[in-house]
Amino acid sequence: MTSLETDEHRALRTAVAALGARHRGTFFTPEATDALWREAGKLGYLGVSVPEEYGGGGGGIAELAIVLEELGAAGCPLLLLVVSPSITGTVIARFGTDEQKRQWLPGLADGSRIMTFGITEPGAGSNSHRITTTARRAPDGSGDWLLTGRKVFISGVDVSDATLIVGRTEDARTGKLKPCLFIVERDTPGFEYRPIEMELNAAEKQFELSFDDIRLPAGALVGDENAGLLQLFAGLNPERIMSAAFALGMGRHALAKAVDYARTRTVWKEPIGAHQAIAHPLAQAHIELELARLMTQKAARLHDEGDDTGAGEAANMAKYAAAEANARAVDQAVHTLGGNGLTKEYGLAQLITASRVARIAPVSREMILNYVSHQTLGLPKSY
Ligand SMILES: Cc1cc2nc3c(=O)[nH]c(=O)nc-3n(C[C@H](O)[C@H](O)[C@H](O)COP(=O)(O)OP(=O)(O)OC[C@H]3O[C@@H](n4cnc5c(N)ncnc54)[C@H](O)[C@@H]3O)c2cc1C
Repeated sequence: MTSLETDEHRALRTAVAALGARHRGTFFTPEATDALWREAGKLGYLGVSVPEEYGGGGGGIAELAIVLEELGAAGCPLLLLVVSPSITGTVIARFGTDEQKRQWLPGLADGSRIMTFGITEPGAGSNSHRITTTARRAPDGSGDWLLTGRKVFISGVDVSDATLIVGRTEDARTGKLKPCLFIVERDTPGFEYRPIEMELNAAEKQFELSFDDIRLPAGALVGDENAGLLQLFAGLNPERIMSAAFALGMGRHALAKAVDYARTRTVWKEPIGAHQAIAHPLAQAHIELELARLMTQKAARLHDEGDDTGAGEAANMAKYAAAEANARAVDQAVHTLGGNGLTKEYGLAQLITASRVARIAPVSREMILNYVSHQTLGLPKSY
């Protein structure tokens, strides 16, 4: 199943799977998720992609994706691995100042600090070119920034130390707006966050943020204010690859439960798994998950080799394939268990909502199809 991976990758899968097995059955409670986060941090699994000089494992997103997939397959995924350390760790390691690296990377690596990621806005959604969160230099000449904006659906703010906010500055010469990234510590005066009530049974909550001219030190800006989209995409490719890993883990978890059930549940002569109407969709779900994993591995490899453009296309396709494979695997798993698919005891019904997340976030199925239509196939745009 994992023959395309190195011996180190296989060893990592086995070790993380063993950690997951110890936490199995603790799915979706904040306390259990926190305990797993701390243990995984101590064991070095949260920091596998952080550079060694900052206390990490010196690997890449390929390794971090293995960690998330295996925890998900054990039924105890860590959603915040999708943002901290993958997006924020990658962006800071690549574009941060020495001071930002010293301040954040060791904590992101051992899990003692968490940085969330905020790009989505109520009026922009899928169209991030429309974001209006704006930064301007404080008029007092201190070099500080004043940041104003609103964000929605930002995961994990309550347990984070800071959020990496995507905003824009205004070019003094042309007046054009340019994307840029700010580290906003959670206790910054005026930084307000309110939980959004979600129909999701998950340990991690989503938040609405609002801030009006909050004052940030000059050192809150990550990288170059004129770098444009490059720095942003350096974080978005890992986010998509990790979202694919999240979906793969959940799909494997659901499928394993269904296969286990189908092997033994007998209402006629043979166990229900002998009926092709049950066996074939499960086999199909397995094939689709395997194919999605292949694309996820490709995307991670391209990203880790520094091919941002190649990784962009592959990461989008991997996220699409994994989200679709997961949604179908969960659907078939619930169906395989009959009435038990909807009981709390078997814990599968809650995955129906959870499996929808990867279809919507961090970029929806339709926006990926748009990307492939335009970028890969060269078809014209409708918007
Ligand atoms: C559980 C969860 C966690 C999240 N965590 C974070 C986070 O930590 N940080 C963060 O920044 N964001 C986060 N998000 C937000 C997520 O990235 C957005 O929900 C997503 O990008 C879609 O934006 P939207 O909800 O505004 O949908 P909209 O943009 O309003 O889209 C609604 C629907 O219209 C479709 N659509 C839109 N435009 C087009 C088009 N041109 N062509 C075809 N179809 C189109 C979409 O595909 C979608 O189906 C999270 C969301 C969820 C559900």
